[in-house]
Amino acid sequence: MKALTVKKPWADCIIRGEKNIENRSRSTSHRGLIAIHASLRIDRDGIRDPHVSALFGDDLTPGVPVGHVIAVAEIVGVCSASRADRYVVCRCGMWARPGAHHWQIANTRPLPEPIAARGALGLWTLPADIEHQVLAQLGATDTSSAGQPGDLTEETS
Ligand SMILES: [Zn+2]
Repeated sequence: MKALTVKKPWADCIIRGEKNIENRSRSTSHRGLIAIHASLRIDRDGIRDPHVSALFGDDLTPGVPVGHVIAVAEIVGVCSASRADRYVVCRCGMWARPGAHHWQIANTRPLPEPIAARGALGLWTLPADIEHQVLAQLGATDTSSAGQPGDLTEETS
């Protein structure tokens, strides 16, 4: 299983199912299930982001445990329109940052018990023992989930 390390406060926003776009400098061809790992690092600018404070006020504590796999989610698409031209207005919504690739995230499912793990840059591969723990928490047969990516999949160019 691939994993994506995300800094606070963005990890907090994703795990609440609020943030459905991950802004990245690189695209990805990966689609489907990924693990979400909360970075040990904090994005200080992110804490002052108005969308973040709208969710959490000025109190992010305790929030998600850093250095842990906290959820699974699915990458359902990537919008690169704004990466090519930062003045293009795409339909990725309020979390999309101009000039970034917009990784479209759906079906976020928090893990009942976060699992300690080391993060990495980009999409990385979970160690087998950690993947096993993640799958065990999800339930062996529960590979589907409710929810649809909605109009995010209609993104073109
Ligand atoms: Zn976009």
